[in-house]
Amino acid sequence: MKLLFIGPPGAGKGTQAGKVAARLGIPHISTGEMFRDHVARGTPLGEKVEAIMAAGDYVPDEVTVAMLADRIAQPDASGGFILDGFPRTAAQVESLDRLIGEDGLDEVIVFAVDERELIDRMLSRARADDSEDTIRNRFEIYQEQTQPLLDIYDARRLIVTVDGSGEIDEVTDRILSLLG
Ligand code: ADP
Repeated sequence: MKLLFIGPPGAGKGTQAGKVAARLGIPHISTGEMFRDHVARGTPLGEKVEAIMAAGDYVPDEVTVAMLADRIAQPDASGGFILDGFPRTAAQVESLDRLIGEDGLDEVIVFAVDERELIDRMLSRARADDSEDTIRNRFEIYQEQTQPLLDIYDARRLIVTVDGSGEIDEVTDRILSLLG
């Protein structure tokens, strides 16, 4: 089972991807988490992406795609995975197509959450890239660069929309029942 979770910043897709992946027994692959881990460990890659992430900008594709390609080639990902935060641009969709094939994904779960709730959630979790300016920038970039992915995957008939508002466990149950 190869799934992709897409949603605006603060939609809770990381939390849900972790929980659903655990239930399905497949890895949760989050490019944002991988970058944060590099920053925390002070690796060369971490040094390269720290300022980019703090501003809420997207890390250049050559860095992101290489890291992702490496991750999905690991043995634990051979039986499927949940991608969270990749692809985020049309160019990254093409990269993913090259890695797993154009028909590689089984489903694309899109999170719908009210914008006011998104901002409140982000301001309350206090991550390094959750200041008000950065949040605004991340929303703009999401709308500009990531929203168009919905059309691409809609044309492939892969999109399933989930209501991402409310309690964490309620949302997990909604996703699991959508997956059947
Ligand atoms: P959120 O979903 O809340 O925006 P993520 O944890 O997915 O947060 O990502 C945090 C940051 O990591 C992004 O704002 C960006 O700087 C970087 N990042 C993560 N995934 C990608 C990607 N696929 N392409 C470029 N940058 C990315």
